[in-house]
Amino acid sequence: MQNSLNIIIIGAGLVGLSSADLLALAGHRVTVIESQHGPVYGASYSNSGMLHPSQSWPWLVDKKKGDASTAFKAVHQLALRSSVVQKGVSARLGFGNQKIKSGCYKIYGDLVSAHDAMNDYKSNSIESIQVTHETDTLGHPALYFEGDKWGNAREYALNLEADLQRRGINFIYNARSLRLKEKNMRVSLQLNECIIDADHVIIAAGASSSDLMRQVDLELPIKPVSGYAINYERPKTRLPNAPIMDSASHSAITVFDDQLRISGTCDEISEVVLLERWSELAPDIINSLKPAKEIWSGLRPMSLSGKPYICETSLSGLWVNTGHGHMGWTLCAGSAELINEMITKGKFDSRFQITK
Ligand SMILES: Cc1cc2nc3c(=O)[nH]c(=O)nc-3n(C[C@H](O)[C@H](O)[C@H](O)COP(=O)(O)OP(=O)(O)OC[C@H]3O[C@@H](n4cnc5c(N)ncnc54)[C@H](O)[C@@H]3O)c2cc1C
Repeated sequence: MQNSLNIIIIGAGLVGLSSADLLALAGHRVTVIESQHGPVYGASYSNSGMLHPSQSWPWLVDKKKGDASTAFKAVHQLALRSSVVQKGVSARLGFGNQKIKSGCYKIYGDLVSAHDAMNDYKSNSIESIQVTHETDTLGHPALYFEGDKWGNAREYALNLEADLQRRGINFIYNARSLRLKEKNMRVSLQLNECIIDADHVIIAAGASSSDLMRQVDLELPIKPVSGYAINYERPKTRLPNAPIMDSASHSAITVFDDQLRISGTCDEISEVVLLERWSELAPDIINSLKPAKEIWSGLRPMSLSGKPYICETSLSGLWVNTGHGHMGWTLCAGSAELINEMITKGKFDSRFQITK
């Protein structure tokens, strides 16, 4: 292929792997460098599994400010595009309708709050249906987002990595000593004693992306925002057929094929708060659970602008695709498409530039 570029992606999470996929399909020679011993050990490891364009409002930007609305519109558009792109990737991977299912719920304290929220979503072109169902909303007033989807993000990412390996994409794991260097306004990489040159380097290192940028004196305004996941064996009781978000706590309950996961929270200091909240909301389910199989915490790479950063930096050839916050699973395919179009076709998109 003409213009086949040598591209290095730092980070083998949902965003790095999705980027590798579409850049390799475009004919580029791609290498993924990851500090862990395998793929998907960062924020992508145990998320709530929702592909939810409906939840595109930023968490860290005041909703009443104009910036929040601008961020919402950009993220929502990218999320809608992402669901189209992801459908194609899923079909290629054989990760189809059995694995990616439709609909998510969000529960509210009372009927009036649910109704007000429905109108608020509607004013932002997000359709929802007000429902209360004994099992699917645990008896709470709720909104049902028919356009949202859900599935096991880690399983998807592991399938994607295996597919990339089969296609000959180069992976370097255990790369703990990676350093970025700047020379003549270009970037090169040093791993152990070796200097690695590339036409383009993409930082998709999640919450650590700012640290990497600092090595070449660049700033990336990302706040790592912690969240937890408690994974249980799937209990033999009546369970909701789609994820349920709690409007009051940035958390959700998701029932996968083989496990039940309670996950989320925003910067709590332990998973105890998460469990207490769901003990109030879903006492019958919580009482039916065996001891947790795994308690995990991860850092969401949350941009201060409320939008991911998908752009070339001021160093020629150094790119970022990160800052997706609570939306990384929802946005990974669309972000990958965008960075591919930027690198391959020279497309420019001002919405996802680095801003303070
Ligand atoms: C509890 C929780 C629930 C969530 N629920 C949802 C949800 O329902 N829907 C949704 O859309 N999103 C959700 N998210 C957010 C989503 O999971 C993240 O936005 C997404 O995983 C970010 O992916 P990433 O690839 O950017 O980062 P990561 O998955 O963190 O991947 C970054 C990778 O870079 C590697 N790395 C870091 N530094 C270096 C280095 N110096 N050298 C080499 N490699 C490096 C890391 O080891 C890691 O593998 C949730 C997040 C959490 C924590």
